[in-house]
Amino acid sequence: MASTVEERPKAALKSLSFVPELVYFEPDALNYPKGKRIYDWVQKEGIPFRMTSSHNRITNLPGETELEKYRIAKRTLVVGIRKTLTFDTSKPSAEYAIPIATGCMAHCHYCYLQTTLGAKPYIRIYVNIDDIIGAAKQYIDERAPEITRFEAACTSDPIGLEPITGSLRELIEFMAEQPLGRLRFVTKFHHVDSLLDAKHNGHTRIRFSVNSKYVIKNFEPATSRFEQRIEAAAKVAKAGYPLGFIIAPIIWHDGWEEGYAELLASLAEALPEEAMQADLTFELIQHRFTKTAKNVIVRRYPRTKLEMDIEKRKYKWGRWGQGKYVYPTEQADALRLFISERIFEHFPQAKIEYFT
Ligand code: SF4
Repeated sequence: MASTVEERPKAALKSLSFVPELVYFEPDALNYPKGKRIYDWVQKEGIPFRMTSSHNRITNLPGETELEKYRIAKRTLVVGIRKTLTFDTSKPSAEYAIPIATGCMAHCHYCYLQTTLGAKPYIRIYVNIDDIIGAAKQYIDERAPEITRFEAACTSDPIGLEPITGSLRELIEFMAEQPLGRLRFVTKFHHVDSLLDAKHNGHTRIRFSVNSKYVIKNFEPATSRFEQRIEAAAKVAKAGYPLGFIIAPIIWHDGWEEGYAELLASLAEALPEEAMQADLTFELIQHRFTKTAKNVIVRRYPRTKLEMDIEKRKYKWGRWGQGKYVYPTEQADALRLFISERIFEHFPQAKIEYFT
């Protein structure tokens, strides 16, 4: 059983990756053990809280300006019930996105949640995990005898929230019992300790998002440091989890070759034998943005150094209307080739799942 917020000593709580400044509860969420546990913890910690009729309609967030509201929203937790149990598809990394949380406390300038969450950047967590697991089971059964993979990080960074929710551990232990079910998620946080003794049966792949020093320093405020992520990767490899790395977004910047070469060399140096031997995967995603995203990003991070000059990019049509700006083919090929070569140099046994 996962340790829960109210069971932890004060010292442990101090090391939580995220302590919200304000919490909203849907009244019905308190009828669920997870909701009640979080409520008790919030009261004990003296965190201000309010009640709300729906986790989708938080209208009275504090803050004078749009920017201030946004910053406060990123520190606001909303505890509710997930009503939509139809899962979105999640290509290319999995068949379905499994929804256990929406929103993230970090401030990555390039994050696509800026646009997908629109005016609702606050963090929603769902207490009816049994309903979510029930829906996943149905999807698995429908696709049998094919394996069905679920991505738990499409709308959030679930490791950042795990110390509060314990939901990932529940998903991992459920998936361990599913011959045809697999779980995967990606994180920029290091709070993996509560997952290390979970029964996973090799059915969950934990991936860490890594990048060149330049990208982490300039575009990923409020995430765990590179060294912390690698330390956490070593721990999950030692715990026998399949391990992976996502290099995303790959950004063309001055000195990018040195930056990405150094990244892969330091990964290889820091990882323990277990990780080097294990079935290791890499996923490579080049930076992309939409016009809408660009507008939002420059409003929210006015001093960002993120290059979003559409003149320098190639337009890639999207399946549902608005397309994205990616690097021109020549640049994308150079990035893909250079990084793939460094991966094979340091990790000859690793598999590159895709470059997109
Ligand atoms: S950690 Fe991930 S989900 Fe959170 S802001 Fe950064 S990119 Fe977005």
